[in-house]
Amino acid sequence: MRLCRFGHNQLGVVEGLEVQDVTAALDVLPAVRYPLPKHDIFIEHLDSVIGRIHEIKTSAPRLVLAGLKLLSPVANPSKIIAAPVNYQKHLEEVKGDAALNQGNVAHTITIQKAGLFLKANSSLVGPGEGIALRFLDRRNDHEVELAVVIGKQARQVSKANALDYVAGYSIGLDITIRGTEDRSFRKSPDTYTVLGPWLVTPDEVGNPDALDLSIAVNGETRQSSNTKYMILKAAELIELASSFYTLYPGDIISTGTPEGVSPIVPGDTVVATVEKVGTMEVKVRAF
Ligand code: MN
Repeated sequence: MRLCRFGHNQLGVVEGLEVQDVTAALDVLPAVRYPLPKHDIFIEHLDSVIGRIHEIKTSAPRLVLAGLKLLSPVANPSKIIAAPVNYQKHLEEVKGDAALNQGNVAHTITIQKAGLFLKANSSLVGPGEGIALRFLDRRNDHEVELAVVIGKQARQVSKANALDYVAGYSIGLDITIRGTEDRSFRKSPDTYTVLGPWLVTPDEVGNPDALDLSIAVNGETRQSSNTKYMILKAAELIELASSFYTLYPGDIISTGTPEGVSPIVPGDTVVATVEKVGTMEVKVRAF
């Protein structure tokens, strides 16, 4: 199933070029009061929501997908975890280009030594909200990534059963200001994390380590690779992340970007695709 959030926090099931508005299925979610859960309760109760969707789907209003403003399929992650330099050819391009590594040795070590990093939750938007670039005198780059959404609490999970903890997959854009600051700072302005176009349940994706992914800027392909080239595979990233943090429903792991990162500027249109997940178009503007 492909589940999107759109418009004014509506919930949809994507089928071809149409979306069925199944917002009423969110009524199965529990009422919450302060202090709010620190995780995403839609993802926590996804099985119940999908059960309700099956009951109401035939009478749900049908909308044209192309006209909808798509939001992040996860509204309230407890954290956004990201993998640095998780493709060998991207590591090599960073090592070989001072504009990318900024002379910082920390940007040229392997992921096994670098570990993972966090992006601010406030940076998260959906494709329909667009990217608002800051510091236009500096280089802002696109990074297309497979994003894994955690479905249930995970603590010290082994890679052998790590994929049992996945609620689904999306496309992640890890927008990056080049410079000397820490990754978590440069990659966390508002709108610098795009998640979309929807959440695809694992049954539709199968093996996450064999998916073509690409991104084009104004129609020109800039990155094109396959998740089989990831140094740490999806299950290994879950194992690593859950050895440091408890993972909660709705937590996002952006699995790293392949070679071909390049600048984007206001006015650009980027189109990102991950095989079996979908394609999303995102407009770039100045902040
Ligand atoms: Mn990245």
